[in-house]
Amino acid sequence: MAKVIYCSKVNPSSDCDHVIRGDSEEEVLRQAAVHAKEHGLQPTPELMAAVRAAIEDE
Ligand SMILES: [Zn+2]
Repeated sequence: MAKVIYCSKVNPSSDCDHVIRGDSEEEVLRQAAVHAKEHGLQPTPELMAAVRAAIEDE
């Protein structure tokens, strides 16, 4: 099943409508780490834990 992360759910204050989709949890987490840097955020273990919690099945 495809995985999806809505940036606005990880970081509601960002007002970002970016959506990450991938075929696996690993794939969306990898893309999320790249996207975090676009926000000037480091993909720390704490941030990635929040991202992982926001993964939804599509
Ligand atoms: Zn974003």
